Amino acid sequence: MRALIASGGGRLTWRSVPAPPPPGPDAALVRPIAVATCDLDRALALGDTPFPLPLSIGHECVAEVLEVGGEVANVQVGDRVVVQFEINCGLCGACRAGFTSNCTGVPPLSMYGFGLGGGHWGGVLADQVAVPFADAMLVPLPEGVDPVAAASVADTICDAYRHVAPHLPGLLRRDPDAEVLVIACLGGRTIYSASVPLYAGLIALALGARRVRLVDGRADVRAVAAGLGLEPVHPRALRTTPPASLVVAASATSRGLWAALSHTAADGVCSSLGGLHRTARIPMMQLYARNISFHVGRTDVRALAPSVLELIADGRFQPERVISTRGALDDAHRVLDAHYRTGDIKTVLSR
Ligand SMILES: [Zn+2]
Ligand SMILES: [Zn+2]
Repeated sequence: MRALIASGGGRLTWRSVPAPPPPGPDAALVRPIAVATCDLDRALALGDTPFPLPLSIGHECVAEVLEVGGEVANVQVGDRVVVQFEINCGLCGACRAGFTSNCTGVPPLSMYGFGLGGGHWGGVLADQVAVPFADAMLVPLPEGVDPVAAASVADTICDAYRHVAPHLPGLLRRDPDAEVLVIACLGGRTIYSASVPLYAGLIALALGARRVRLVDGRADVRAVAAGLGLEPVHPRALRTTPPASLVVAASATSRGLWAALSHTAADGVCSSLGGLHRTARIPMMQLYARNISFHVGRTDVRALAPSVLELIADGRFQPERVISTRGALDDAHRVLDAHYRTGDIKTVLSR
């Protein structure tokens, strides 16, 4: 079968690789039908992360089930499913508690699309993908939901959701005018794409926020944000921007984290998607004096995906509005090359 391999210098090549063996009793074999870029993919493909190249790229998809093992109960051949990017067993204590990103049934950081660093599970830009724990990992796509719209539920959409959904309803009960501030990029450019910040803004609106500001130094991202009903803020204006009850630290930089924590209102929440930097400065006294809650960590996609799909299925959240480029899976090498070399926000490739 074919798999798209990213190697040094951002080179992308379809290579012939061995097809996965027939699935074991708990496993399934799927065929990706819509594959989305993650905000980290540009950095991954250009070798700007700790994950070594070459690697089989792609970790967000909706797929069609090709084959299932004898003990699989939740999905059938032909079903369309979200294939979440974190490998998890569904049975260990962590999985049963909903902490599916720290499954103890597989080695730590087991993921599709991260090469050696994610444990050789392959990428989803391939003709077939082996899913070792089908009942645990595959979430059927609700009736009427477009696979292209939902491809990023496998990672980035759930990543955005977890910064907003656990915190915003409580903050709005306390103050219906509670504001949301998303800090995406403080400079004029960054290697990271802007889909998580934009999804977070849309989800905040869907969950009832009246005012959502998005800080980004990139003019094109501010324009997209404005089109989505978010209030774009140039980083220069951040100093005069009031603190918000919920702040999403989405810059993946130490400086952005400082800005986010400094702009969190008293008794508010700051949620960070993390970053690849090892250390960061934290305004401790301010957090203490203002009683600020700070969250950071990886996404438990499997635990969140059903709620996210519900929000999409009932039309309250339209993630397809964030898609900037659509293309054919067979053209992935060309379309993604353009994605990596530009500031493109979200590319989705489909059959
Ligand atoms: Zn990702
Ligand atoms: Zn587990």
